[in-house]
Amino acid sequence: MNKQQRESLAKLTKNWPSTMQFDVSMTSYSSLRAGGRAAGLIDIHTLPELQDFLVCLHEQQLVFRVIGRGSNILVTDKGFPGVMIQLKGELEQVCPVEAEKVEGGELLVKAGGGCSLGKFLSWCTKQGLSGLEFMTGIPGSVGGAVRMNAGALGGEIGDRLHSLECVDACGSVIQVPRAELRLSYRKVEFIGRIGRDRERDIDALVVASARFRLIPGVQEEIRSCCTGFLARRKGKQPTGVASAGSFFKNPTGDAAGRLIEAAGLKGHCCGEAMVSPVHANFIVNTGKSTATDILTLMQQVQETVFQKFAVRLEPEVEII
Ligand SMILES: Cc1cc2nc3c(=O)[nH]c(=O)nc-3n(C[C@H](O)[C@H](O)[C@H](O)COP(=O)(O)OP(=O)(O)OC[C@H]3O[C@@H](n4cnc5c(N)ncnc54)[C@H](O)[C@@H]3O)c2cc1C
Repeated sequence: MNKQQRESLAKLTKNWPSTMQFDVSMTSYSSLRAGGRAAGLIDIHTLPELQDFLVCLHEQQLVFRVIGRGSNILVTDKGFPGVMIQLKGELEQVCPVEAEKVEGGELLVKAGGGCSLGKFLSWCTKQGLSGLEFMTGIPGSVGGAVRMNAGALGGEIGDRLHSLECVDACGSVIQVPRAELRLSYRKVEFIGRIGRDRERDIDALVVASARFRLIPGVQEEIRSCCTGFLARRKGKQPTGVASAGSFFKNPTGDAAGRLIEAAGLKGHCCGEAMVSPVHANFIVNTGKSTATDILTLMQQVQETVFQKFAVRLEPEVEII
């Protein structure tokens, strides 16, 4: 980022609640506790701020990436030349006032893209709204979960998605109905009018908020269902250690963890990055692993699994 670009961003954000930061290590913004540096990072609190900021980035020809809780990203040691955006303030609120009825007695609820999944799920439980209990225990934000079509135990967040409010690189707000999204395993694509007109993938749009269709239910039953889902996750995953959850997507009809374990790679290390001995599809940072260590280990796992089983594992983690 050159001096003029830095000055434009600093000038625009001068009186905003959060200061524009430059040359930021992404280590503390990734659950892997590793990663290179970003040229800039900003917390954005309102929709108009987000629009103005994206216009400024566009004018300055700077790239951006939104990050949620960093639980599925790894920035390479080369670093990211643009600006990382985090959604805060109004953009992390759940909106009870927006609760309105849709067909079949379901209720429509709006959650900010920056809202943590944990906060959103407890809000749903308190309001007696059911439908997303299977998401319990998945770290991250609503925006990140939508972008990844995150899910567990047979459910995906997209199952309950009604629509998105996005902002594009020119600062325009776009309402995206569910029908204009193709949601598949850990993947979201735009189809129809938006896909055609914009010719872009979801990374060019910021999910400012998402609306979900939820089912009125009994608070105690919803809470107990969440506890049940959490219990099913426990013991199957490494805890208390830096990771990004499942590192690879499951190939059709198989499990990445099963293949990696069968290839004898549990406990295999590269620097301080290790294939978890608890769950082979978790790459964990056991100390001060670099992004390069993690990516080298990723390639070693891919090559070994390919040689033994002729299956090419694709990372689920977003490598930036
Ligand atoms: C211990 C552990 C367990 C996990 N278990 C699961 C699991 O069971 N199931 C599962 O699906 N995942 C799991 N994950 C992965 C991760 O939690 C999910 O992918 C989560 O939804 C990512 O959310 P995030 O806010 O952290 O996104 P980030 O990691 O910050 O970002 C992920 C992607 O989303 C984009 N993004 C983030 N916010 C926005 C936004 N507002 N608008 C547009 N794009 C955005 C980013 O640019 C990036 O491409 C796990 C991770 C960990 C660490």
